[in-house]
Amino acid sequence: MKLKDKVAYITGAASGIGKEIAIVFAREGARIVIADLNQAAAEATAAELKSSGAQAVGMAVDVTDEQQVEASVEATVKTFGRVDILVSNAGIQIVHPIVEFGFSDWKKLLAIHLDGAFLTTRACLKHMYAQGGGRVIYMGSVHSKEASLLKAPYVTAKHGLIGLCKTVAKEGGPHGIRANVICPGFVRTPLVEKQIPEQARTLGMTETEVVKNVMLKETVDGEFTTTDDVATVALLFASFPSNALTGQSLVVSHGWFMQ
Ligand code: NAD
Repeated sequence: MKLKDKVAYITGAASGIGKEIAIVFAREGARIVIADLNQAAAEATAAELKSSGAQAVGMAVDVTDEQQVEASVEATVKTFGRVDILVSNAGIQIVHPIVEFGFSDWKKLLAIHLDGAFLTTRACLKHMYAQGGGRVIYMGSVHSKEASLLKAPYVTAKHGLIGLCKTVAKEGGPHGIRANVICPGFVRTPLVEKQIPEQARTLGMTETEVVKNVMLKETVDGEFTTTDDVATVALLFASFPSNALTGQSLVVSHGWFMQ
């Protein structure tokens, strides 16, 4: 087992990519905190993990709320004694042309992706520094490196996570911290299912055309990235044995974006 007895605090882990990471980390021996806005789904996911023999707890957390983040990380340490891995994954998508983008939607999206990453990082680092180390994994996107139509705040936030990651890697390095970003292509989770009809309406295409000609057009095989593809990379970052792999961002997108 690659993560035996490690404690992982994973945001947005009641659905999609975060949930798959929780399942894979639990299988590798980690104890898991599912920190998600959706309390019922967080508890259901924790129950699912427990039924397969893992230790897991679901917590209702809005990652944009400073008190809730602080309290849930404290509760994590109280429950499991430590926090070794932060996966800052919670996210949403809102699509509009820039000229029609509401300021409140802009701020909401930036808050979840960037304030959420900052608040969870700060809360976990305090404990990780005291323990002598830890791993921080941010859920970026191909949109951390590339732009697409209609996604101004998402592209902005995902690029921003790379800056935060590099800073955490430098500041935290002497304290045993490693920080990295995963940059997935399109993964068929509820976040993407919602976008397909929205983009079809805005771009004047059918949903099939959005999938084929917008989302997967530049991939090498016309395939979606899977939650399993992303969780495999998360496990690599969480378990890599040395400081050689820190401050990096790895694209996992079926060749959509090549560096
Ligand atoms: P998802 O909608 O399946 O899951 C997102 C989870 O985040 C949900 O459980 C939701 O309740 C939770 N959440 C939303 N706002 C929250 C908040 N304020 N506080 C706490 N939890 C909150 O989406 P997903 O596709 O699994 O996305 C997970 C991450 O992966 C996001 O950061 C997303 O930007 C990123 N990502 C997704 C794709 C994709 O194609 N699906 C591609 C690249 C990156």
